[in-house]
Amino acid sequence: MSERTAWDLLVVGGTVWTLEPGSGPVPNGAVAIRDGRIAAVGPSEELLDLTPSTEVLDASGCLVLPGFVNTHAHLAMTLLRGLADDLPLKTWLEEHIWPAERQFMNRETVRLGTRLAAAELLLNGVTTTADMYFFDDEVGDVLAEAGMRGVVAESVIDFPTPRCETVDEMIEKQRELAARFENHPLITPAIAPHAPYTVCAANLVREADLAEELDVPLHIHLSETRWEVEKLLEEKGKSPVAYLAELGVLSERTVAAHCVHVSPEDIEILAELEVGVSHNPVSNLKLASGVAPVPAMLAAGVKVSLGTDGPASNNTLDLLRDAQIAALLHKGVTGDPTVLPARTVLELMTAGGARVLGLDDRIGTLAEGKEADLVCLGANGPAAVPVYDPASHVVYASRSSSVRHVLVRGRTVVRDGALTTIDLDEVRAKVQEIAHRIAG
Ligand SMILES: [Zn+2]
Repeated sequence: MSERTAWDLLVVGGTVWTLEPGSGPVPNGAVAIRDGRIAAVGPSEELLDLTPSTEVLDASGCLVLPGFVNTHAHLAMTLLRGLADDLPLKTWLEEHIWPAERQFMNRETVRLGTRLAAAELLLNGVTTTADMYFFDDEVGDVLAEAGMRGVVAESVIDFPTPRCETVDEMIEKQRELAARFENHPLITPAIAPHAPYTVCAANLVREADLAEELDVPLHIHLSETRWEVEKLLEEKGKSPVAYLAELGVLSERTVAAHCVHVSPEDIEILAELEVGVSHNPVSNLKLASGVAPVPAMLAAGVKVSLGTDGPASNNTLDLLRDAQIAALLHKGVTGDPTVLPARTVLELMTAGGARVLGLDDRIGTLAEGKEADLVCLGANGPAAVPVYDPASHVVYASRSSSVRHVLVRGRTVVRDGALTTIDLDEVRAKVQEIAHRIAG
């Protein structure tokens, strides 16, 4: 046996779909992993013959896919899940969420809420998540401890946060975070000005310059509500998209969450500047923000991906469920059952997400040489069969309970439906203690 075929792990027996352009599902396939990367993809028999002594992970009965990528979240808000529902966004935010954050969010609770989020994400097949919140150095640490990939950003907003009093302080924390995670194997630092209506023009420009200087993604909420668009039109004479474009905030490094209320002109700008969009259908539905024109954005060549948003407005981090809703929602509102077909939705939640986060050279497909982030979906229930079209099966018939194994950078973080890196019982008990205090 040559040195070259010494692999660390072989995922065998599943139907492997790399999702590389032009690829299709390969029954009884295998993925060989070495040093956290995909070393080979091929027929199980062939790869097993090459290295009979390699450790094997049985994926028979599973569909083996790239791990799911969640491009917008506020992870520690798991602690506020279900605290205030069925309210208008402004009331929800100003009377419930912000006061609770001011009172209860600190270094310790952000760690706990993020650990709960990581457990939920991994069990749902999500291997990479973006986050924008406070104490994001802790968010990065917790995700790394859980063996999960993250693109984490301390938020900047023009009023005090649970962590910082001033924008100068917030920017200092962003710089510290960027230094802390520079060249980290799992964690990518990012910059996150909250939104065009909560950060003034001067601070938006500072943030854009900082993202450029540090060469990191810039994550922002954009055109989430009609109210936001009307406010910007009135105050700046421009749509939020046109306003940010003029300030130089929009570029190929931008991750723009929501983009619900965007005009055809806005869509042209997003496409031209190669802005990445995070479509958050469940949060937008729950807060009655509206429905983002995703089919039009895709037709214009905009980079689109999927996000859950925070668990206070969703109320889960189940990206697979949200993908199903995206696939159905756009058919319903356009009256066209051919929009957002399953294959497209699968692309949005894998390679599309990787592209929006600037990680497509490392993850998003199961190409040889990429890092080994993958999910093995294999349900045992009645709805597990038959499978004529794996993309349709994932998007329309699978549930997060179908997630059997999850690997991030070659490490098995979920095995047979159980977390290997997080003690969920312990996390749940601690969350219940805090929830008693939050509920008052
Ligand atoms: Zn958000």
